[in-house]
Amino acid sequence: MKRVFSFGNGAAEGAGLGKETLGGKGAGLAEMTALGIPVPPGFTIETSVCADVSRGASLDGIRSEVETALGKLEHAADKRFGDPANPLLVSVRSGARSSMPGMMDTILNLGLTSRTVAGLAALSGERFASDCRRRFIEMYGDVVLRVPRHEFEKAMKEVKKARGAQSDQDLTAADLAEIVRRDEAIIRQRTGHDFPDDPREQLWGAIGAVFRSWDNERAKTYRKLHHIPDEWGTAVNVQAMVFGNRGETSATGVAFTRDPASGERKFYGEFLPNAQGEDVVAGIRTPRPLNRDGSGTSLEETMPEAYAELQLVRERLEKRFRDMQDLEFTIEDRKLFLLQTRNGKRTGFAAVRIATDMVDEGLIDADEAIARVEPEQLVQLLAPIFPSKEKAAAIKEGRLLGKGLPAGPGAACGRVALTARKAVEMAAKGDPVVLVREETSPEDIAGMHAAAGILTTRGGATSHAAVVARGMGKTCIVGAGEISADPAHGEVRAHGLAAKEGEWISIDGTAGEVILGKLPTQPSEVLQVLLQGTIKPEQSAVYRAYNRVLEWADQRRRLGVRANADTPNDARIAVLFGAQGIGLCRTEHMFFEEKRIVAVREMILAETSEERRAALAKILPMQREDFAGIFREMGERPVTIRLLDPPLHEFLPHDDETMRKVAAELNISVEKVRDRTHALKEANPMLGHRGCRLGITNPEIYEMQVRAVFEAAAQVTREGGKPRPEIMIPLVGARGEFERLRAVVDEAARRVIAESGQEIPFQIGTMIEVPRAALRANRIALNCDFFSFGTNDLTQMTYGYSRDDMGTFLPVYIAEGILPEDPFTSLDQYGVGELVKIGTQRGRDVKPKLKVGVCGEHGGDPRSIEFFHHAGLDYVSCSPFRVPVARLAAARVALADQAGVGPSSTA
Ligand code: PEP
Ligand code: MG
Repeated sequence: MKRVFSFGNGAAEGAGLGKETLGGKGAGLAEMTALGIPVPPGFTIETSVCADVSRGASLDGIRSEVETALGKLEHAADKRFGDPANPLLVSVRSGARSSMPGMMDTILNLGLTSRTVAGLAALSGERFASDCRRRFIEMYGDVVLRVPRHEFEKAMKEVKKARGAQSDQDLTAADLAEIVRRDEAIIRQRTGHDFPDDPREQLWGAIGAVFRSWDNERAKTYRKLHHIPDEWGTAVNVQAMVFGNRGETSATGVAFTRDPASGERKFYGEFLPNAQGEDVVAGIRTPRPLNRDGSGTSLEETMPEAYAELQLVRERLEKRFRDMQDLEFTIEDRKLFLLQTRNGKRTGFAAVRIATDMVDEGLIDADEAIARVEPEQLVQLLAPIFPSKEKAAAIKEGRLLGKGLPAGPGAACGRVALTARKAVEMAAKGDPVVLVREETSPEDIAGMHAAAGILTTRGGATSHAAVVARGMGKTCIVGAGEISADPAHGEVRAHGLAAKEGEWISIDGTAGEVILGKLPTQPSEVLQVLLQGTIKPEQSAVYRAYNRVLEWADQRRRLGVRANADTPNDARIAVLFGAQGIGLCRTEHMFFEEKRIVAVREMILAETSEERRAALAKILPMQREDFAGIFREMGERPVTIRLLDPPLHEFLPHDDETMRKVAAELNISVEKVRDRTHALKEANPMLGHRGCRLGITNPEIYEMQVRAVFEAAAQVTREGGKPRPEIMIPLVGARGEFERLRAVVDEAARRVIAESGQEIPFQIGTMIEVPRAALRANRIALNCDFFSFGTNDLTQMTYGYSRDDMGTFLPVYIAEGILPEDPFTSLDQYGVGELVKIGTQRGRDVKPKLKVGVCGEHGGDPRSIEFFHHAGLDYVSCSPFRVPVARLAAARVALADQAGVGPSSTA
């Protein structure tokens, strides 16, 4: 079977094979070649070879195919590998199915040997040839031979010092040849061998190393963070070199076909004249703009022909891929070559804007627009911003430390961390962190992840920091050149201002401003339209795009989306975010309120049933008021109210001082408070006297709550509303528990309804959060109107991990790969998920129309939502701010399902 695919001169063997086989880079090169876009010739070794290499297989199986492809490459390039007169030089690059910027290895200028270097010198000059050889030896030494890079850097510094050279540009051909000699000596000394002087040996060494770089630590971390399966593997691309560093008529650059931060339809990118390879992305020199900006340095002005050709390429690629592309190009002696195209990473703002614009441009349809926006990206649209008044005041006070390029929109305040390690450490202590670096590299990935915001002082809008921050949805500013980040002195400073490591700074990733101290934040533009009404929809392009995507999503999803909301205000927000009902109202949150806790404690400390009822009577009107408020907000939408769940002990005071206060408030002795608190104390309250167990031993509490619900419902009905209460009994494990409490609830409800003379339709259901309830669902369902999976408790009880105590071991489990991820965040589809499937199926065996939802935290997690869709649930319920995410996630899985894409479990 063919595993190596050639491309060049308008023909590509791999065209149409796609990213799964060729990796993103290989597929892009094949497609561009087939479109007739100028691409240096080369070949791609497919991703499946990587899996073999990971398993320890040798590369012998592809040897003859690679030889054939190399022959074709020589022919297409009209150069020969190892030919001293006209040598073919190649790059060897990784390229996985999904882009992993900078995580794996690359080698450039391969094929330079002691013989071919002379050929290159004859064609392009001594200095150029020595510089290429130096770069090659250093990269190969680092990546393939594993000689620490800093040793080469040291050699270079020494020669520079000896020659009095300020920059690399000041080094002569002879200086560079001296560096080459020193680099070779380092390699000899470190490895015991000479640097390989046979181009084929170099090539095989490089291919093996690039495949192996799939398993380096930073690539593994990146995959874990982005849920990229280890089995995918990377492809390897071998391609003829073109040189952007052949003087001032050469250049290298990157471009996005639209603005990756705002999504605006304008060409966007940067280039560096006379530069090679990763120089732009590494952020070492500050690049110049593509488009004319008045500086006179843009590509449009300095190389107008190449710019015009690049514009044409831009249009063709967008037509072909029907998505925003991220391009890498090189100009060699005024001739343009494309080295890469891939779907560009973008912020949440850009994602909705590009998706809706492309629908309007006729490039994609609404289904595809939905697939283009990751549900989590919507979170960025809802994230806070700095209020303009406070920011202006801070700037007026002289707190503006400096400005940079806005690379990741939003507002972030945090304590300054000057290294990635420090960022991780400081974030673990709880305060938000802003990571400030000169530039970032793939080693910083964990620190970037831990940070609330990222600031770099060098590099452009396509530097590593910008690309990665965009992918992570982080607020980010890059290239803030006036600011210096100085880990040696533990501070960032500019213009006589400074912030020490650990002090607060605020970064505005939309405007690019860095401000000393902590600024307040305010709701995002979308929230100002949606919740506050301070901006009109027609004034906000981003709101309109957000809203269109979600309206399309609503037309396509099968799952209902409800919200977990405990107060009228939460309910109002939930509706504005598009919730179709409340899936969980945790009534204990009402008990905890300061005014009420006295009455609640009185109820708990009561000695007789009369005393208890008297205390409950005080709580009743307060609960009634809350429920009425919620019903008013929710209109005709269903409201699932869960009866009291936590153990009573949680409401009692724990320290002496509060005990004394409570005793005084209730006019009883401190001893009594202490005794009762002691008596209610449990060794394991999570598995103790809580949920329905509490309702069975203290039915008067549930009776009071039900009365409050229905009195509120009657009142709102009288006002002309149509409340639809659904009473939910928590923590049921046996049918008997449910039946007993159903009777209590039903009777109490009917009594109030009769008293009120109103008609109030209602339902009584249960939570499924004890594994036994899932297994016995066919019994429990007999007399039950609905199930709602409480996957927080279900996860706790299925694994036997206490929700309150897992912090001590779960992070270790995840770090060591014992569990793929935190099962309290994303559903364990194989274990807990199996119980969800069993419970749903057994419940519906006896009651085919049984309504089934989920209200644990997983209800707002896109991958769990995918699972719930496939498990046949009717709705998910999550916190109000996750409702937009859930709406979109539910639509995406519905569309994928329609297209025949099955469940994609990674658990
Ligand atoms: C659950 O257990 O999933 C649930 C929603 O209830 P709580 O988190 O209140 O225990
Ligand atoms: Mg629970």
